[in-house]
Amino acid sequence: MKRLSGVVAILMLVLIAGCTSTPVRNPLAQWHGSPNHEPRRARIIVLHHTAMDSAEGALRTLQTRNAGGPVSSHYLIGDDGRRYQLVADDARAWHAGSSRWSGIGDLNSYSIGIELDNDGREPFSEPQIQSLLVLLADLTGRLGIQPHLVVGHGDVAPTLKDDPSVWFPWQRLAQAGFGLWPREVLGTPPVGFDPWLALRVVGYDLRDPEAALVAFHRHFRGNEARTWQPGDAEILHDLQLQLMDMPAVPGP
Ligand SMILES: [Zn+2]
Repeated sequence: MKRLSGVVAILMLVLIAGCTSTPVRNPLAQWHGSPNHEPRRARIIVLHHTAMDSAEGALRTLQTRNAGGPVSSHYLIGDDGRRYQLVADDARAWHAGSSRWSGIGDLNSYSIGIELDNDGREPFSEPQIQSLLVLLADLTGRLGIQPHLVVGHGDVAPTLKDDPSVWFPWQRLAQAGFGLWPREVLGTPPVGFDPWLALRVVGYDLRDPEAALVAFHRHFRGNEARTWQPGDAEILHDLQLQLMDMPAVPGP
């Protein structure tokens, strides 16, 4: 009986250990390792604002849960520029939720999530943006993510999210080589140019066209207009032309 309880104790220990770390090799199969593999890589970077008042509060939420359930991100950048990492680059963090970009869904599986400490009603601080640019250079270089594939949560989940807000300096990011931005001199779109089609080519999910248009305006026009605005077609045409010279989003 005593011996049996010892066995039970060992079993319990194994079970507890099993809760804290996933076994690298499946005990159900015999390991014959092959060198021909690589870690699953992120292909896109999704930016957020925390919609909270402090980095400390955001850190707590990103290590636990918000009203919708458990959440996390790979990085959080404070408004003082301090960078925090919460999830390893090669692991799947829970930041994007239901999302789609360039036809690829479930972006949590294919992205790095970066939260910016900002309540959504104020400009992003200079130290924070400078810190973000350093991190973007690191991530795109080290993980081989194409620099133009830096987008907002609102871009990839237009019906659900509106972050980062209209205050986010996308043009500044593009000047540093990240994300897309229209060039200074815009050509005239050809006759028959379809802005909805161009919106899809840029990456937006058009299942709710109006929501996609609002997301486009938030990102590229600094407003959240629900209808087409003068100049939209020229911008979309230019973005489409730029994308023709860039590699497509790598598929899953
Ligand atoms: Zn978000």
